[in-house]
Amino acid sequence: MALTIEARDDATGARAGRLRTAHGDVRTPAFTPLATKATVKGLLPGEVRALGYEMVLGNTFHLMLAPGADLIERFGGLHGFMGWDGPIITDSGGFQVFSMGHGTVADEIKSRSSRAPADRRSRCVPRTGYRSPIGGDGVPGEGAILSIEEQGVRFRSYVDGAERFLSPEGSMAVQASLRSDIALCFDECTPFHVDRAYTERSTERTHRWLERCLRWHAGHGPAGQLVYGIVQGGVYEDMRRASARIVAASGCDGVAIGGSLGAEKAQMYEVVGYAIAELGGVRERLPRHLLGIGEVDDLIRGVELGIDTFDCAMPTRLGRHGTALVPDPVNRWRVDLTKSRWRTSEEPLMEGCVCQACSRGLSRAYLSYLARAGELTGMRLLTEHNLAFLARLMMDLRQGILDGQLSEVAARLRSE
Ligand SMILES: [Zn+2]
Repeated sequence: MALTIEARDDATGARAGRLRTAHGDVRTPAFTPLATKATVKGLLPGEVRALGYEMVLGNTFHLMLAPGADLIERFGGLHGFMGWDGPIITDSGGFQVFSMGHGTVADEIKSRSSRAPADRRSRCVPRTGYRSPIGGDGVPGEGAILSIEEQGVRFRSYVDGAERFLSPEGSMAVQASLRSDIALCFDECTPFHVDRAYTERSTERTHRWLERCLRWHAGHGPAGQLVYGIVQGGVYEDMRRASARIVAASGCDGVAIGGSLGAEKAQMYEVVGYAIAELGGVRERLPRHLLGIGEVDDLIRGVELGIDTFDCAMPTRLGRHGTALVPDPVNRWRVDLTKSRWRTSEEPLMEGCVCQACSRGLSRAYLSYLARAGELTGMRLLTEHNLAFLARLMMDLRQGILDGQLSEVAARLRSE
């Protein structure tokens, strides 16, 4: 088993542990910054590591289109290519392919259609403000699903317009070339708006794809690469539970929870809870990853539910767009520095943060100016700050579990 559980919180399902991978351990619970296109945008590997991060997440879909898995393999995989020697988890590409056809939750709510892959892996509707962007990370061009078949998905590349095909085996082959420490099985990220019958068909196909992924990996996967199956099932309790049981029994090394998690946060926690409920007892030592969720309150609740690792574009994306995470629950732990009220503010961003902006006491006025001017330095500083904020949050939660003080720590984090 890859996960050693070091401590449990009796009042909740939280656990602290150590996830063993071929490139070192990840102390859990942990947040995983996105390195979607083989870079944590704006930061160097050493800077990400210095913040306390032990694992980053790369993306099969984007990397297979550019620069291509074959090229990355020539450099010994993602580790050698991007200069990160710690653990790497790779997403399977399923979500990105399907988001071209299904759009994002925000798009669905606003009745927009999206033709390029989105970045939010799980689908809980953001409360306000955070727009799931069309075009992923500033991606040019338009992608489109051409057909969804049992064999896989045919789509048009957003990079060069070429027709491409991604199958469960193809996704695993790309992740084998990338040499990630944890590969995710190829799944259909069931859209938010579909009915129960569609969700059922889609979830069953994801389970058949899971078997194909594991079979391919057993014959061809790199030694030491862990494989996580993905739990789907929409918001339906019976389907979520059944999916969790099937994934846990499949022989995979860990479980990732994805897909539509509901229309609001309370429902999201409930739906995640359905899956976790099936992962107790002998299945307890399967590591659990929650895909695409990373808001501060969701991380706290996710840890209480018993999630070990998380990933989300939110902290780095917000940083590039001038928003910093701060201890301010009323405003969803955010401050938008592009607002005119910060134009002349001498106030530092935050007390007690180890990032370069805070430790040097840079003013909100300066950070606001950089953000409004679109300066690279501003994006770097705020990206680093936001990741420092979440690293600290996760470290506090982990320590809370180890000390038997999680409820106090969580209450403090929710109120500051
Ligand atoms: Zn800071």
